[in-house]
Amino acid sequence: MDFLRLSDIPAADLAGKRIFIRADFNVPFTADGALSDDTRIRATLPGIRACLEAGAAVMVTSHLGRPQEGALTAAESLAPVATRLAELLGQPVPLVHNWTDGSFDVVPGGIVILENCRGNPGEKADDPALAARIARIVDLYVNDAFGTAHRRECTLHALALAAPVACAGPLMTAELDALGRALARPARPLAAIVAGSKVSTKLTILESLADKVDVLVLGGGIANTFLAARGCPVGASLHEPDLLDAARAVERRLAEHAGVVWLPEDVVVADRFAPDALTRTVHVDDVPEGWMILDIGPDSRDSLADVLHRAGTIVWNGPVGVFEMDAFAAGTRALATAVAASPAYSIAGGGDTLAAIARFGITERIDYISTGGGAFLEFLEGRELPALAALRARARPASRRLPPKPVFENEPEPA
Ligand code: ADP
Ligand code: MG
Repeated sequence: MDFLRLSDIPAADLAGKRIFIRADFNVPFTADGALSDDTRIRATLPGIRACLEAGAAVMVTSHLGRPQEGALTAAESLAPVATRLAELLGQPVPLVHNWTDGSFDVVPGGIVILENCRGNPGEKADDPALAARIARIVDLYVNDAFGTAHRRECTLHALALAAPVACAGPLMTAELDALGRALARPARPLAAIVAGSKVSTKLTILESLADKVDVLVLGGGIANTFLAARGCPVGASLHEPDLLDAARAVERRLAEHAGVVWLPEDVVVADRFAPDALTRTVHVDDVPEGWMILDIGPDSRDSLADVLHRAGTIVWNGPVGVFEMDAFAAGTRALATAVAASPAYSIAGGGDTLAAIARFGITERIDYISTGGGAFLEFLEGRELPALAALRARARPASRRLPPKPVFENEPEPA
């Protein structure tokens, strides 16, 4: 793709440079404030290590939560991230507050964490003045935060335009390569699974996927909307009555290039949304009034496994049932197992989808797991991600060379 990558820059050119890495450290915490999962921190290590080993002075920042600008609370501090990163790297990682004016020190081979960038006034508005101020302390800007690439914020967009040189880090690059491979030149048939609970936001994705995929596998609230559009009774199921025409339009668009929709033929229904609800397995034409579809049935599990076994590429977002409750987990378990067993190149993303993948123990058998939720979906939709657009704009050959001047003007000359 047409953007500069960190790996394109010779390590010798990084030595002594001030490198600003925009990471995604938006990590989960337990109720008592301890870090509960460090996956996102570990995912950023390759980029950080490459810069440190090349002898650069490294500054890393991220957003965390949704703080009010200018009024960070203790719970929104990156302090626990700095502590964990120091353990992982085996070197000190000081946390710097009020950093936008550059009044802090970081030496070549050293690293600091710059406190939650969403605390800076102007971050969310993508303020070019804030970007210009930060750019003064930066020789090379690295975006390694794919998970937030769909946001137009200062450290993701304006700063990429303002910094002397801007490139994508290894995590960002890996995400884009994997997604690009799945969508640009997919091994056919290409099957996309779009399921879960967000019906209206995901329907816009279906419209653009309809032109690209051979099989559109639908589950959850989206499947219910399509079933209703075909005239099936969906009872009290999660669905979107206003979008029946939109659902029919997606089916027509698929049919134009001989694509097909996969919908369940049998479903598990419940009399209420609860783990101990009364349940039945029924044909989709026989959903009782007032009952709700909470999973796919056994015939559907088999036919879904068959479709996925024959696919060349699988893109998966969304569980096909309320898998958090054991009574409605069989469909998503079968789906996960089928994706894992399929010879297809498989790629998955989405917060709850990743939770399902972890729960069913198939992490190692998915070819690529995207760290992005919203960014993954917008990429699938074919939208230009603002952070990526900024990197592309900087990919002109003229901006590819790092300035040769020594970066630390007050540094002693090398002996
Ligand atoms: P992701 O986070 O992977 O993008 P979503 O947030 O769209 O996925 O959807 C996940 C949620 O969808 C899960 O919490 C699951 O319980 C719910 N879900 C799946 N099928 C149904 C259904 N038939 N009815 C109601 N909720 C469903
Ligand atoms: Mg979700």
